[in-house]
Amino acid sequence: MKLHKQLKKANKRWKLLSTIDEVTGIPNRRCFDNKLKREWNRCLREGKSLTLILLDIDKFKLYNDNYGHLQGDNCLRKVAKTLSSVLKRSSDFIGRFGGEEFGVVLANSDYDNAMEVAEQLRKHIEMLKITHEQSSPIPYITISLGSATITPTSNTRLEKLINAADQKLYQAKDRGRNQVCAVRMF
Ligand code: GH3
Ligand code: MG
Ligand code: MG
Repeated sequence: MKLHKQLKKANKRWKLLSTIDEVTGIPNRRCFDNKLKREWNRCLREGKSLTLILLDIDKFKLYNDNYGHLQGDNCLRKVAKTLSSVLKRSSDFIGRFGGEEFGVVLANSDYDNAMEVAEQLRKHIEMLKITHEQSSPIPYITISLGSATITPTSNTRLEKLINAADQKLYQAKDRGRNQVCAVRMF
């Protein structure tokens, strides 16, 4: 009986650890993918809109080169913590998408609302004023964001939403970084 309880406890702990990213303490990629799929299906069933924001730290390779990998990790943690604190609704979700890239899922969120959240995320990272001499347009850590909003139907695919957010992220980089680009999909 005791062994059974211990096993159950260990199993629960393993499950928790396997969903958390070790560097930043927020949900990892696997957890993010699962959440996005679940929310897609829920919004499809309920006819609600869904937004995916992909965001990426600007010139982060130069930050690592300049200040070292450990400080890079510290910066990632600060950014992750700040982004999480901006998200207020219990249905909002953030995870580490990979490297210095994060993904945000906003369920029941229309285009205008999503734009506002994305802009808040951008502003709060800028306001941290983490020195990054070699970054541009300002010498601080900043992020670029790509946002895509859709009301899922049986004719649409989740992959399209991910690609659209990714394209918008590239556009934000291309247009000079530290900004949001967004698209409303039909
Ligand atoms: P851009 O503005 O175009 O995004 O430029 P960038 O330098 O941020 O992009 P690039 O993809 O060239 O570099 C990403 C860097 O992120 C490279 C890698 O060293 C760093 N990185 C990724 N994961 C981690 C991590 O876990 N810890 C640290 N310290 N650095 C990481
Ligand atoms: Mg980057
Ligand atoms: Mg990147």
